[in-house]
Amino acid sequence: LITGVNTERERVRLASAIEQASEAVVITSDDGTIEYVNQGLLKMLGYDSRDVIDHNITLFYSHQYEPDSLMGMQQAMAEGRTWTKRMVVHKKNGESLDVDVNMSPVRQDGGRITHYVHILRDISKESQLEAQLRQAAKMEAIGRLAGGIAHDFNNQLTVVRGYCDLLLRDLQPGDPTRECIEQMDHATKQATTLTSELLSFSRKQILKPQVVNPNQIIEDIRKSLGLVGEDIRLDLSLQQDIGNIRVDPSRLEQAVMNLAINARDAMPSGGDLAIRTANIDNAEDILSLRAMGLQGPMVMIEVEDTGLGMDAETSEQVFEPFFTTKKKGKGTGLGLSMVYGFVQQSDGYIQVDSRPGRGTSFRMYLPRVSEALDVEAPLEKTTPAEGGSETILVVEDDNTVRQLVVRVLREHGYKVIETGVPEDAPRLIEQSDTHIDLLVSDVVMPGTSGPMLARMLRQRLKFLRVLFISGYTDEKTLRREIHFAKVNFLQKPFAPEDLCRAVKQALRT
Ligand code: ADP
Ligand code: MG
Repeated sequence: LITGVNTERERVRLASAIEQASEAVVITSDDGTIEYVNQGLLKMLGYDSRDVIDHNITLFYSHQYEPDSLMGMQQAMAEGRTWTKRMVVHKKNGESLDVDVNMSPVRQDGGRITHYVHILRDISKESQLEAQLRQAAKMEAIGRLAGGIAHDFNNQLTVVRGYCDLLLRDLQPGDPTRECIEQMDHATKQATTLTSELLSFSRKQILKPQVVNPNQIIEDIRKSLGLVGEDIRLDLSLQQDIGNIRVDPSRLEQAVMNLAINARDAMPSGGDLAIRTANIDNAEDILSLRAMGLQGPMVMIEVEDTGLGMDAETSEQVFEPFFTTKKKGKGTGLGLSMVYGFVQQSDGYIQVDSRPGRGTSFRMYLPRVSEALDVEAPLEKTTPAEGGSETILVVEDDNTVRQLVVRVLREHGYKVIETGVPEDAPRLIEQSDTHIDLLVSDVVMPGTSGPMLARMLRQRLKFLRVLFISGYTDEKTLRREIHFAKVNFLQKPFAPEDLCRAVKQALRT
């Protein structure tokens, strides 16, 4: 008798444990008819127990997407086996959910199978994170490819553009060949824009970060945003005490503009465009940020529209370079890849959230900094492109680029010593009978990098001025060096005039 009471008590305890377990538990008869579901299942799928009792377990699963899995399940039931599978279930409201299903037979007194227990675990968060990481890896690979092409192309473009310029300078205004060369020059400039967009996607663009207030930047471009469209209501909700961020201000402007223009395109018959800023106290509080290894305080900048929206498949591709759904000649597919590259390179993360017909939200998360605002640096364009008579050491491993640089500098009166091998530079300095005023050097070279070379030479010539020329910088540390080691930088491809201006500027520092 005492044993009976114990068994009864045990039964009650077991039943309430199952009822309150956080996993979803379903008990079916041996043919799959639902006899019991616990609270966890009702909560997970949004059903009432009336909706499901006496229905077959297949009610939960998508017949369209899971025909094989359902067959597998029925097979397992027929054979009395346990069975596990990752599947998609339907919630009552039509949404779908990724779950891990575990089904096992219940035997009466260890003999005949009377029931099956199905345990469903919600893995939608895991699937989302997996997709997010897969996406990041894919973008990384495309970025490497795009960056590599753009880098090598920039060297070629510097050469073509440079010689076009030299030719044009020598030709009389009425010369018939002039037009041909102008066309070439024009095409080169367009190609330059393209490589620069690719570089910014591949996070190899040289950024000029400053400590800025995001609200201020958004306020500054408010006027241009007003032009986005007539039937579009613009709503700025900027958090008052928003933190500062360290980004390249012109890139951030461009990013917000790109997002706003896309929003406009998605609202052909008007709608609402909202731009919001908010402080995020800790990146780890947001799952998708934590998954990317981000930590600490951040700032969120959101651009949201009430336009056409996108399905999941489109959303997954929007950041890829050249992905566009717009007509030929309308879209380049490079707007969002630039935004993506900029955010990544600024140590942030960008997330898209969209549904067909329900609008789209892009959220940029950027690390918050505690430093005070930077005062804006003076514009470099003011330096005239005139020549000089100083001595310049040119180190560049690409022969055609070096020849062009040397030629332009000599034509402007400079004395030039040159080499394609950085390791030869110290010897050249020793052999030179004049003092070297400036080092003009490529950044990425086999063996000794530009910054390494500059450091080495500065041990002999303490006040040697430096101008780096490069299509990109490859590593973070290199970028840091360019920002902090008091060196000047000129982005390839450049026109001869840009080179002279940069040299002049560097000689003055
Ligand atoms: P483009 O604007 O030249 O097509 P983008 O890189 O800026 O290139 O955008 C890529 C694609 O992403 C667009 O063609 C569009 O399909 C989609 N897209 C971007 N922003 C939105 C948005 N706000 N709403 C709907 N679709 C968008
Ligand atoms: Mg666009």
